[in-house]
Amino acid sequence: MDVDKLLESAREMLPFAYAPYSGYRVGAALLTTEGKIFKGVNVENASLGLTMCAERVALYAAIAAGYRSFSLLALVAEGESRPLPCGACRQVLGEFSRGLRVAVAGEKGESKIFTLKELLPHPFVLQGRK
Ligand SMILES: [Zn+2]
Repeated sequence: MDVDKLLESAREMLPFAYAPYSGYRVGAALLTTEGKIFKGVNVENASLGLTMCAERVALYAAIAAGYRSFSLLALVAEGESRPLPCGACRQVLGEFSRGLRVAVAGEKGESKIFTLKELLPHPFVLQGRK
């Protein structure tokens, strides 16, 4: 899967974002190692702490469908700035794929690719986990 194609899939999600409070729409597309794509948008709530990020919406849909391994995440935000996953999303993504690549882009302009290891070099790991 081409990075630009996955970014386009994320970009197509922007109209579906629910962001009446911040006006900051984000679309996500997550590629499994099997080649399947799961998409998400940010979903805000009047109780702002309950807001869910687009990448976790996509990840949770993939997990619920039985997928556990991912190779590439594409994130696109409304406007020109490139969205980086928040700390919570970095930790949650790292639970499944430490080797994940993360492509980020605004609606226009150049994309940039990071590895999850760059974004979260020292994740929390539950000691004694089997
Ligand atoms: Zn997040």
